[in-house]
Amino acid sequence: MVLKLGVHVSISGGISNSVDNALKIGCSAFQIFTRSPRQWKTKELTPNETEMFKEKLDNSSIGPESVVVHMPYLPNLSAPTSEMYEKSILVLTDEITRCNLLGIPYLVIHLGSHLGQGPKNGINQLVNACTKSLQSYSDRGLPKNRVKILLENSAGQKNSIGSQIEEIQSIFNILGKNDYGLCIDTCHLFAAGYDLSSETGVTTLIEQIDSHLGIENIKIIHLNDSKGDLGSNLDRHYHLGLGKIGESGLRHLVNYKKLNKIPFIMETPIDAVRNDIDNIEFVRNVLCK
Ligand SMILES: [Zn+2]
Ligand SMILES: [Zn+2]
Repeated sequence: MVLKLGVHVSISGGISNSVDNALKIGCSAFQIFTRSPRQWKTKELTPNETEMFKEKLDNSSIGPESVVVHMPYLPNLSAPTSEMYEKSILVLTDEITRCNLLGIPYLVIHLGSHLGQGPKNGINQLVNACTKSLQSYSDRGLPKNRVKILLENSAGQKNSIGSQIEEIQSIFNILGKNDYGLCIDTCHLFAAGYDLSSETGVTTLIEQIDSHLGIENIKIIHLNDSKGDLGSNLDRHYHLGLGKIGESGLRHLVNYKKLNKIPFIMETPIDAVRNDIDNIEFVRNVLCK
């Protein structure tokens, strides 16, 4: 089986460098930020940059459907109405625009934190932010939106939205699958209390996800092991097979038939234990059957 597999790669020196970076380490899928993830401000993409990116991608073995953008970290789309909330909507609109310009079909968003106002309020704010951003995009008079916003499940940190499958389902039902899809993060699932460490755990979970959300709506899987324990609500990614999820659950997951068309993206640390190439090789050589 040929898995679409890759990691989050750097855009340092220009966004088109991400394609080279991905190819160099053997990715068949990859994720990028289109800007620095820890700053509000960014420069507009120049036509030259977007053309170069598209040309490199076209000439590579990586299909555009295996490329995904992750939203920067600062926006909080479920925050109570405030200056920061309004800024978050602007960033989302910009990221939708940038994905369209780059020809990237998927934009992963975090569902944010209700900051103590309760999940109901948070979900309302989130739905409003997404709807407004898509509206503002179309008000910009650019070509019709081709980007799906992917809702990513959270690890269940205090006040966070979207750690439970039923909650994501309720949000997804409101937003609809036309402009939206899902990104499932294995570390976040585990931290939120879903046990993926065993084969039966994985099977049960995938069936649960399928019945509530529909497997066909999952466009990206964030394939990360977890440093934190089951149900710890800790968002700590770890090298594949070396964390608390471990080899057997992850092996079952990457070989799961119903998932074999979905790109798997790792967001694992680079440290003395392993780098990105090591994790890619581990998945290909040790986990894949
Ligand atoms: Zn994420
Ligand atoms: Zn995470």
